[in-house]
Amino acid sequence: MGDEEQGENEVNDNGDFRLDVSAQVLRDRACGAMLGLSIGDALGATVEFMTPREIQAQYGVHDRIRGGGWLRLKPGGVTDDTTMTLALADAWLEHAGGARGDGQDIEIPDAETCARAFDTWMRGKPVDIGHTVRRGIVRWRLSGSAITVPSDDAGNGATMRCLPVALALFGGAPDSIVSATLAQARVTHNNPLTDAATLCVIDMVQIALRGGGQAALMERARQLAIEHPLFEFHGRRVDNPSAYIVDTMRVVFQGMAAFPAFEGAIIDIVNRGGDADTTAAIAGMMLGALAGQAALPRRWLDALDAAPRAACIAAATRLIERSPGWAQIERQRLIKA
Ligand code: MN
Ligand code: MN
Repeated sequence: MGDEEQGENEVNDNGDFRLDVSAQVLRDRACGAMLGLSIGDALGATVEFMTPREIQAQYGVHDRIRGGGWLRLKPGGVTDDTTMTLALADAWLEHAGGARGDGQDIEIPDAETCARAFDTWMRGKPVDIGHTVRRGIVRWRLSGSAITVPSDDAGNGATMRCLPVALALFGGAPDSIVSATLAQARVTHNNPLTDAATLCVIDMVQIALRGGGQAALMERARQLAIEHPLFEFHGRRVDNPSAYIVDTMRVVFQGMAAFPAFEGAIIDIVNRGGDADTTAAIAGMMLGALAGQAALPRRWLDALDAAPRAACIAAATRLIERSPGWAQIERQRLIKA
């Protein structure tokens, strides 16, 4: 939306952030994030595990939601990236338990609550499931332990599904964002690189929700690369990314750096192949938050399956309307009125 939303958010006398964003714009951005994720997933799934050369031979430039791929999706179908995100949204909206965040009227789902939601999701026979995610949920079933042990497995599964945390805790205290992020991650992933990337993506989504522009997003990406140099994304082009979070994020950042708007970045990213549905889903949530639902490409929105599209809009709306930031905007509006 407009540039008038840019600008830093000041802290007022109560220690609250003053959020320079209207409720309507914020809701549009939240829906944009969730729909952007599912568009990336639906578009990328067609070419998941293909090389750029194979994609080029088969499609020229792949830029149409057409289904197919190794999962033989129908056009508009989505995969685990979207459905597991919706499962985590359920943990927030339906089954909240665990700690209350920073005195706000919002319950932060603990690892057990997330594990139950992921278990329910897996029982629904999702079209696909990553091996780290499967192993984590099976461990929960067999041992009742919601938290996996530290591991070298720095997969991207905890990052691809993190969006509900960014929406539900928009405007929330940094420590509650960290604990909510790690609670959902720990069910399946326990690795510092995965944690750092997941926190970075949540931060970037929230920067976009507040009205920070493309440059502010890329600045946060650069910070991640300074903290963990493996994520450095300048230099040689990364193609055919694996589910290793470092490969995943370098492709996401390279695509976002080269193409500041949603459509160009998503096309660039899916045509790099590899874990294309997941790279495009992660970029899609950040760039969708930046663009807002109203600015997403119509042809892609229309091509999405109606059921996941409606579920994304409903979940994004409910999550953002329960966030501390939403309450803050309502208070500001009352003070102004
Ligand atoms: Mn997938
Ligand atoms: Mn994938």
